[in-house]
Amino acid sequence: MSLVALLALSAAEPLVEVHALIPDAIVDLRYATDDNFMHKRVYPADAACLLLERSATLLVKAAEVLRRQGFRLKLYDCYRPASVQGELWKVMPVPGYVADPKKGSNHSRGGAVDLTLVTLDGRDVEMPSAYDTFGKAAHHSYSGGSEASRAHRDLLRAAMEGVGFVKNAMEWWHYDLPDALAHPLRDEPMVRPVLR
Ligand SMILES: [Zn+2]
Repeated sequence: MSLVALLALSAAEPLVEVHALIPDAIVDLRYATDDNFMHKRVYPADAACLLLERSATLLVKAAEVLRRQGFRLKLYDCYRPASVQGELWKVMPVPGYVADPKKGSNHSRGGAVDLTLVTLDGRDVEMPSAYDTFGKAAHHSYSGGSEASRAHRDLLRAAMEGVGFVKNAMEWWHYDLPDALAHPLRDEPMVRPVLR
């Protein structure tokens, strides 16, 4: 690794483990299983949900808002190493759905999270589409499906936008930090940070 790359790495904000900050969140990293659109595991089976501290701090606030409304968070995807982005792109080279690895994904910056709601006792709630559905039912503008599913989608959106996240119009589950692009792409392992 070059000295410049090393300096960039040491200057990067650390990633924090979200589950340590939101203990009642369910972590269901689909890419750490074969239950995803590639039907293939691309993360280590014990991968943790890691985010920039800024993202995690906002998410803690959103979780507080939603808890008062009777919901907990289920986290589908958090930090994604930049090298894994290349594997996703090979399977789904469609900008808008999967970021071109040359440009990079905000997930690889620690500035994006994929999530849904569950009830306080951990039951799934209805959403307009399954996670990683590529089509209209995943759009925020989708007016089909049940009223309850749209209400859940809109509740998640209100909470996430209310604390400062930015929605993705084509994916009801995906939220970005407003300045995500200002953060560097990273490729460190998805393991729990060592406590110091
Ligand atoms: Zn996403």
